[in-house]
Amino acid sequence: MRMNKEEIISAIPLALDERQFVIYIQPQFNHSNKELIGGEALVRWIHPANGMQSPADFIPVFEETHQIPKLDLYVFEQVCLYQRQRLDAGENPVPLSFNISREDLVADDDYIDAMEQIRKKYDLPVNLLRAEITESSAVDGSEHIISVVNRFHKLGYLVEMDDFGSGYSSLNILKDLEVDIIKLDLKFFSGEVGGRGGIIISSVVNMAKWLNTPVIAEGVETAEQADYMLSIGCSYIQGFLYSRPLPTSEFTELCHKCAVNTSFVSNRFIDKLDTGRFWNPESLETLIFSNYVGGASILLYDKQNRTGEVLRINGKYMSEIGMNLTEKEILSSDPWAHFNAINRQIYLDTLEKAIQSQKEEECETWRDYQSKCCGDDKICIRSSIQLIGIMENKYLFYIMIRNITKEKKIYNEIMTSENRYRAAIEHANVYAWEYTIKTHEMRPCFRCMRDLNLPPLVKNYPESAIEMGIFPQECADLYRDWHRRIDAGEADELAGVFPLTSGRIPFMVKYTVERDASGAPVKAYGSAKLIIDNESAQEAS
Ligand code: C2E
Ligand code: CA
Ligand code: CA
Repeated sequence: MRMNKEEIISAIPLALDERQFVIYIQPQFNHSNKELIGGEALVRWIHPANGMQSPADFIPVFEETHQIPKLDLYVFEQVCLYQRQRLDAGENPVPLSFNISREDLVADDDYIDAMEQIRKKYDLPVNLLRAEITESSAVDGSEHIISVVNRFHKLGYLVEMDDFGSGYSSLNILKDLEVDIIKLDLKFFSGEVGGRGGIIISSVVNMAKWLNTPVIAEGVETAEQADYMLSIGCSYIQGFLYSRPLPTSEFTELCHKCAVNTSFVSNRFIDKLDTGRFWNPESLETLIFSNYVGGASILLYDKQNRTGEVLRINGKYMSEIGMNLTEKEILSSDPWAHFNAINRQIYLDTLEKAIQSQKEEECETWRDYQSKCCGDDKICIRSSIQLIGIMENKYLFYIMIRNITKEKKIYNEIMTSENRYRAAIEHANVYAWEYTIKTHEMRPCFRCMRDLNLPPLVKNYPESAIEMGIFPQECADLYRDWHRRIDAGEADELAGVFPLTSGRIPFMVKYTVERDASGAPVKAYGSAKLIIDNESAQEAS
């Protein structure tokens, strides 16, 4: 029978004396492999006349009447006792969380001192216990709570932030308080997983990843909820789906039946970036990200499923992409939505390469955009990809981008005209070559290579060609003189008839010299055209 507030108040002293309180333990599981990872101790009041009472009813009364430290210490002792018995039975117990009220911590360090006395009495290793503090206690006296968390850490306790998301300044708390585990209660996010609540949850989980902090989802009642949490990267589950809080004997049985793994997979961050500071809007990292680097984004890549999620972009990222997209559109869409299969493959290969090398890797990919205002367009992006973090199967990348569409288009035009030029040469019966002044190297056209059996690079030009007999001895001095004048910058255009090849067929040979910005000669472009009419022969003389 449910007791009212007055009844509770008058029943408390005797209840404490008679030890009417017991602990139940609610197990916590890794939903991805069904392993047991720990449990939370929850107090139950078995009233001799009225039966089991709900903590939701009596905990607030204990708090109001300032008796909660007594109850919490009692529960803590029960937890220590339980763990000690399991150790004595030769077992390897899972860590258990215990709840700490805000009231417990307001005064001074007495509470923690009292806890430590109890723990020592049971000679219990601190890693079998986890301290749960609520978000609301963190909101109030932030300086004080920071020192409490530090004290717990010094003593070796892991600290959990309970009921994360129930308060208003959740995000700010996280950046100041170095909690080890975040507990996120689904009931604070209006249940359904697809809607607005789901978006908030996934951003909290992502942020927690950034802070390198595992998340336990509480209040998980359905498989759908658990699968959703897993899909956004939170695999630790505590809720009715797996189990209600159990009497200790049943919890022990469960431990015997389940696969157990108590080492939280913590994320490994490559220390190039202080990730905690990255989320702080005032930090230098954020300032640099938003103002000083070019277009940049943070991508979370799921290696197994080959999917990705853009977690953050800066303003310049959007202006590089253009196409009038909003930040929200970019963050909420598939990172490869605008890629065709080939470009997507190039991009994924580069991600894999960056994972392997742990160095910056680059790729250029084309993307097709259809936008209401800009119509259809193809843009080419050069991405410099750097791995910055690893967690389970997920990889975090820092990606700098540059829109190189214009450069690419110009380059493609040059390539097209170059190809046209080659074809023209082929059709016009012309032999062409490029002579580099500084190195005396000659690069022949394909036709030269084919007909004169030349390698792609001819060194020591023109002597080598004269030796080969392409230029006959009687013309050799003239041709040498041409090169002397080209080398010395004395000529820009040269033309003359040479009887070439072993057949000594007359060719019109021309040179055009290219100079650099300072006017110094750099290259000369040569051509030799078979003389078929008299006109060109006359032109030369
Ligand atoms: P809490 O710390 O957030 O504990 C989780 C509560 O959610 C528990 O309620 C648990 O039974 C319930 N719960 C777990 N899974 C599900 C689920 O899938 N669906 C739903 N609807 N509920 C679920 P419980 O045991 O009634 O405890 C209520 C609250 O009382 C606790 O919330 C905690 O704030 C407080 N409490 C319990 N034990 C202690 C204690 O030893 N000390 C202090 N200070 N507070 C305690
Ligand atoms: Ca709790
Ligand atoms: Ca909770």
